[in-house]
Amino acid sequence: MTITTALKNTGDLKKNWSEVQLRLKEAYGMDVYKSWIQNVEAKEIQHNSLTLIVKTRFVRDWIVSHYADKILDFFQKLDNSVTRIQFEIHESFYDDKTAQTNVVDFLTGSQIPDSKDSAYAANRLDHRLTFANFVVGESNQLAFSAAKRVTETLGHYNPLFIYGSVGLGKTHILNSIGNELKKTDKKIIYLSAERFMYQFVKSIKNKDTQKFKDVFRNADVLILDDIQFISGKEVTQEEFFYTFNSLIENQSQVIISCDRSPNDLDRIQDRIKSRLSGGLVVDIQPPDIALRLQILKNRCKTEETYFGKEVLINDEILSFIANEFKSSIRDMLGVLNRIIASSRIQNKIPTLQDAKLILKDLLSNMQSIITIEDIQKLVVNYYNLSTTDFLSSRRSRHIARPRQVAMYLSKKLTTKSLPEIGRKFTGRDHTTVIHAIKKVEELMAADKKFEYEVQDISNKILKSN
Ligand code: ADP
Ligand code: MG
Repeated sequence: MTITTALKNTGDLKKNWSEVQLRLKEAYGMDVYKSWIQNVEAKEIQHNSLTLIVKTRFVRDWIVSHYADKILDFFQKLDNSVTRIQFEIHESFYDDKTAQTNVVDFLTGSQIPDSKDSAYAANRLDHRLTFANFVVGESNQLAFSAAKRVTETLGHYNPLFIYGSVGLGKTHILNSIGNELKKTDKKIIYLSAERFMYQFVKSIKNKDTQKFKDVFRNADVLILDDIQFISGKEVTQEEFFYTFNSLIENQSQVIISCDRSPNDLDRIQDRIKSRLSGGLVVDIQPPDIALRLQILKNRCKTEETYFGKEVLINDEILSFIANEFKSSIRDMLGVLNRIIASSRIQNKIPTLQDAKLILKDLLSNMQSIITIEDIQKLVVNYYNLSTTDFLSSRRSRHIARPRQVAMYLSKKLTTKSLPEIGRKFTGRDHTTVIHAIKKVEELMAADKKFEYEVQDISNKILKSN
């Protein structure tokens, strides 16, 4: 390996790792990201094995048991030479002082320092998530009303247990409750169960578990997100249970979210389950199409107010998104953001075709996947050729040009690599594909009619899918 390739590779590694971190953030949310992913560094790739550096054994074990598969999965999408992940623990890798100060701050009250990677940033409510911008439909009506009711009369349902699968609005509702109660003088603690665990384990390490307990037991309102993460860990379960009991006995309000019902929590003790079900248990169901559309429309409005600029996403695109992304509101909104961002960058009102192109890597996971064969077939028909000629080695212009167009569109409309594309054109080399792409781009720039032709074929392919 030459020096330049070695340098390039480390550059790629950092870039790929940041990309993977970003995807993990999208997949698991800010909280998980800050707690477990943000501070992990990629060290090197050797013999197909990616080495990640983490701070403690605990973090490593947690990542291995919860996120390692996903990390490998995401990483392989960018670099498929990697087949394994291994960890190195560098205890001194991070400056532990900041963490220490934050512990004190956290434990003395709700004032959390504004440090960028404050270990307790998770304790902050997201002020953007409110009842006012939560769109109510049939699927979330019960959870919404119950949450509102609790903010009106603390203890009305205690605990309030809200469950539903990922991306359906649990965190949004929990934050809405917190933001509403923030207006009162109640002492509120909001955090994810992961964070709860992390704090607890840390307090054991720092020998200040008493402080930990006091903070929680003095809260008027405890809002605990994603409680499924507590299952399995005996010590934390115990601690959680005592905290929970003493809060309920003091008539403090407890609000909990989970990805499943209390009964479906495995590896959690029965007495905890029954305590969790002791108040009101409500679920959030997947949204129907009307709700999905309304959420998209509201989000466009919010973006407009936020950026002070009209968001020009037409109804056709909105219903396309609402129809394709059904299972998670988070994913659906992520897709909308991507289209908005891309239309801002290109300063262009997107058409449905543009939207499909922007989303091509997501759509390729779904049924409407465009294959190289689809493209070849359409190009062959468009130019009235025979498939045999088209795939042959003949180089006469009336065959070679369409072939180049098909290669160009294969790169543009699928996620296939250059060598993969080459192989589909009777084993041509990737340099031939590069040449074809360049040629078509040159011709399109020079010749409006040709540009229109290629655009027309591209539209036909997208429409037929
Ligand atoms: P969960 O915690 O259940 O995984 P979130 O509360 O994080 O889901 O919701 C995912 C995204 O969808 C957030 O951006 C949230 O604001 C948004 N969202 C979910 N439900 C609604 C709704 N009914 N109205 C408006 N936005 C919603
Ligand atoms: Mg959540």
